[in-house]
Amino acid sequence: MSRVLPISVAALLLPLLAPPLSAQRSAGVDDAALQAADPTEWLAHGRDPGEAYYSPLDQITADNIDRLGLAWWWDIGGSQGRLEATPLVSDGVLYGTGTWSTVFAVDARTGEEIWRWDPAIVRGGRQNGGPSVCCGPVNRGPALYNGKVYAGLLDGRLVALDAETGRPVWVEQTTPVGGEYSITMAPRIANGNVIVGNSGAEYGVRGYVTAYDAETGNQAWRTYTVPGNPALGFESPAMEFAAATWAGNWWDGGGGGTVWDGMAFDPDANLFYIGTGNGAPWSREHRSDGVGDNLYLASILALDADTGEIIWYYQTAPGDDWDYTAVQNMILADIVIDGVERQVLMQAPKNGFFYVLDRITGELLSAEAFSTVTWAYEVDMETGRPLEVPEARYNTSGVWLSPGPRGAHNWNPMSYNPNTGLVYLPGQHNQRFYEVDPDFDPVPGRFNIGIGPSSAGGRPDPPELPEPRGFLAAIDPATQQEHWRIPHTGSRNGGTMTTAGNLLFSATEEGVFYALDATTGARLWEAELPEGPATPITYELDGRQYVTILSGPGDARGPGAVWSFVLDGNAPIPQF
Ligand code: CA
Repeated sequence: MSRVLPISVAALLLPLLAPPLSAQRSAGVDDAALQAADPTEWLAHGRDPGEAYYSPLDQITADNIDRLGLAWWWDIGGSQGRLEATPLVSDGVLYGTGTWSTVFAVDARTGEEIWRWDPAIVRGGRQNGGPSVCCGPVNRGPALYNGKVYAGLLDGRLVALDAETGRPVWVEQTTPVGGEYSITMAPRIANGNVIVGNSGAEYGVRGYVTAYDAETGNQAWRTYTVPGNPALGFESPAMEFAAATWAGNWWDGGGGGTVWDGMAFDPDANLFYIGTGNGAPWSREHRSDGVGDNLYLASILALDADTGEIIWYYQTAPGDDWDYTAVQNMILADIVIDGVERQVLMQAPKNGFFYVLDRITGELLSAEAFSTVTWAYEVDMETGRPLEVPEARYNTSGVWLSPGPRGAHNWNPMSYNPNTGLVYLPGQHNQRFYEVDPDFDPVPGRFNIGIGPSSAGGRPDPPELPEPRGFLAAIDPATQQEHWRIPHTGSRNGGTMTTAGNLLFSATEEGVFYALDATTGARLWEAELPEGPATPITYELDGRQYVTILSGPGDARGPGAVWSFVLDGNAPIPQF
């Protein structure tokens, strides 16, 4: 179903007046365009290569935002999962992805469908011949380059579609067929390559990231994040170095360290940044005889963008025991710290600390807790390592620790506004009872985490957590000072986007799409959408600034749709 809700009679005529859709669409998206990041478009996942989720557009401000209304909405169709995609806009066309790895293109002025592509992913999990999926059939968005739209599919394929027609140009199987891997992340572009990782550490896999020539699909490089069986030889000196931090037959369980979300690119340094996930299985006891840092789990890695070689690493959770992935989104910025301009990389991984690193050297500049953190006291600035509480290394008796596996921050991106100097971080409080499963026996196609009800029995009451559980925190990364915090009732809120109009856009789990004053956090505007929001973007067409977000469950509670707002938009938001 496609629905066009024109904002006025004049707007009705716009599609007729617009230049004819042609094969030139997004053909202009080359490396220079991605680096220039024209503010009227949204060409890449976090908009610019540093992925700040910041737009220089400033037509919409506190002074006129009361006029912000719906321009159009378009039902993505088919759901049974949540929308997590950041759409892209190029040359008047919006490209996005839905659940089950569908890919679509709609007119960014009207919401009129141009094409929709369904890869027909086999459903029902491994026993039906489909992919094992830990966390729903989600997808976080496409990439654009030289006339093609790239998407990672749940069954491990990477597809390049013709941007004009939606027809596949090439398809590469990036993972073993029928294995335990899946892809939910948005591919990224760097130096003519399309780069993608994968998910699956809960099922017992070895993490890696692969770069493919964007034109041909030929593999350019592949970098593993954890070592394999030493008897088979190491792929690189980095893998040999890492192997010294593992014990036992870790390769039998895959090791983990999957790269399933955050990436960023510094074209000047030619460094491509990835974040790595948790260990497989979760319990280090079962993974590595209970010892070792297990490099490069839960780490930020700087790779040579042309070869994939690991240039530096920073491990956020040495010897991960808790599903503390460091795949959360990373932002590159140049900020003044103690009077010196630093080129930084910022990340708030699941483990509850907000990190600021020197992105050229990997040096830790600061790390402070932004949520309930009980697994560690703090991060030691001398060693860069967390100072763990003694009970963090749980046994079969178990212990409550915060954060839990959902993390203090998850897939929903934080953003950074260079004018306010603030990072807007959507976080949450949660915890889990961690206990070593004494009877752990991995079964293919099942969660193999080595944690579970232990025979030790008896579980103390959980400690109280702050209420409400969700929040949006505005943090100055130069000082680690929190300027303000907005509470959210739920904790599955959307990502954030901020603009030169001094606005911060995000949406709550319940689907309340809102705008705040980016300096003060004062609420300026809101619109009620169906629940389950992704991350907003903004773009400009015909001199008008649009703000757009995917939201909705795609069932009786409301459509899973693209919602696009503009000043004086007057389309009614449907009630369900
Ligand atoms: Ca995980």
